[in-house]
Amino acid sequence: MDGAVGEGRASPPGRLIWRLLLSVGLLTGAAPSPANERVITVSSELRVSIGEGNEIFLLARPLPNEGLEAFVKRLTDDPSAKKAILTANGGARLLRREAFVRVPYSRLSGNFRKIAMEAVFPADTADVTGWFHHVTAPAGRPESLWRIAEWFTGDGRRYKEIREAGHIGSLETEKGQVVRIPAEMLLPAFRSAAVAASAPAEVALEFGSDEKGKYGVYRLQRGEALYSAVVVRFTGRVHAADVNEKAAEIAARSGIADVRAIPVGYVVKIPVEDLAPEFRPPDDPERIEEERARLETAQFVNRVRATDLSGVTFVLDAGHGGRDTGAIVGGIEEAREMYELACRVETLLARHTRASVIRTVKGERPCSDRRIDSAVDWRSARVMTTPPYDLEDAVAGVNFRWYLANAVLRRVEKGGGSGDRTVFVSLHADSLHPAVRGLMVYIPGEKFLQGTYGKSGAPYDSRREVREAPRVSFSYRERMQAEGMSRDFAEKIVASFRTGGLPLHDFQPIRRNVIRSGREWVPAILRYNRIPTRVLVEVCNLNNPEDRQLLATPSYRDRVARALVSALVDFYGGKGREVVTATSERAVEEPDKQRKAVRDSSP
Ligand SMILES: [Zn+2]
Repeated sequence: MDGAVGEGRASPPGRLIWRLLLSVGLLTGAAPSPANERVITVSSELRVSIGEGNEIFLLARPLPNEGLEAFVKRLTDDPSAKKAILTANGGARLLRREAFVRVPYSRLSGNFRKIAMEAVFPADTADVTGWFHHVTAPAGRPESLWRIAEWFTGDGRRYKEIREAGHIGSLETEKGQVVRIPAEMLLPAFRSAAVAASAPAEVALEFGSDEKGKYGVYRLQRGEALYSAVVVRFTGRVHAADVNEKAAEIAARSGIADVRAIPVGYVVKIPVEDLAPEFRPPDDPERIEEERARLETAQFVNRVRATDLSGVTFVLDAGHGGRDTGAIVGGIEEAREMYELACRVETLLARHTRASVIRTVKGERPCSDRRIDSAVDWRSARVMTTPPYDLEDAVAGVNFRWYLANAVLRRVEKGGGSGDRTVFVSLHADSLHPAVRGLMVYIPGEKFLQGTYGKSGAPYDSRREVREAPRVSFSYRERMQAEGMSRDFAEKIVASFRTGGLPLHDFQPIRRNVIRSGREWVPAILRYNRIPTRVLVEVCNLNNPEDRQLLATPSYRDRVARALVSALVDFYGGKGREVVTATSERAVEEPDKQRKAVRDSSP
């Protein structure tokens, strides 16, 4: 079964279709490029071209072993686009492995339209009120209002509305002109970018250098502390020891004697190598690499629609359990709260959707059993492998969870289901620097998913899930897909928390890796998990007093459960908020009335 992972999974029928098309001469190798065409390289797989008449094409390479159907689906959302793509690539030359296929802009999915626009018009900006298109005449002639309307609203005729909204006098545009496309007119992909842009603004740092090397400059604002406003925000560090250590280094480097009394406007110097990639200078190799990966993985978003979640398998993992308590801070035990939260999520999903929920850890009684402490018998929780694992060892407990998740995916695929209807969520509460608070979602950063991994020996060999597929590795496509799909889902979770008024991490709520003690990695539960859409949700930070108090409150946990379910419904094209607020909240609240009794009786 090991061979089932990796490049070997590519579909031979897909390859056959390409070959057939080639043999009948439907596809060309190098697409015909009109004169005066400007081509912008997005990544090794993607380019965007703009011709003299301002017509735009995406030039994309099929991924290794990608069939035509899959290629068309990935780029367009629309199977009927196959014909248009073949027409645009008319001719009889051979398709070389490295050749690019031309896809007309009007056929692209919203996501790829956005990628194309960002590549051709990097100066464009957005905020809640709309998209601000900067006329730059990339192919020589200024782009017309018609074209602008066509690109951003999907209909050229809407140029009139754009003109009216912006009181634009002339029908002709000129270089340097800024045309606003009102938010309500934008295609969904541009509209959501506009909404995202209205989240806390990113700060551009200035840079300088001294004998110790290059640094970024940040001027402290009124009321800002070095820990949160500088270290957490710009270096991405969140664990207490890391934050304190970095704060001390930065203070020394900047000539700050007392970190509690830094004057407003003081120049704080942050070494470039400590900066998170997005804050580094534009020519920094790590920043370039990060942006490239971001664009490439952004090709993979969920396209499955299942508004009632029918056919969706949701693998729900409550972190810790049994002997593994997770973090305990101020009497609040992570394992208990996460087990109880998972029960709430399961109950909501059963009530409001048709998703099939599989919990990785279970106690003796079902979540629906409402006798005393029934929803919270986390102490008897076991990982539901065959046979179950008692959680004697926390690390083995994590390994068994991803083995179990992979077995669920195999079962789904065997039954004719697909990975894009399967979602994995692991629930945790973090223990970070006390200044940090709110939700943080980890996704599997593609660059951390290389190599092959597996466990053997006791206690692993005795579990069916391990014997069936002992080792795991990922193909290039699977790595890209994992980061892309997981980010797509993570964005839905963040949006759902925001809408629900729940605390979020201030600066970077979605992270592709953990940074701790000078190392970077993806948590094992995501690293070896083969379910394409998989996230680890750190619901809040137990070391932050406000977060801790919230987590102990049933109404907060209920809101978190609703936000998660709502995000899942949104991910599959439904209206999550409406679904989770539809009916009485009573039954979900009930188990917690017993909470005090539970606490008193627990060892
Ligand atoms: Zn945890």
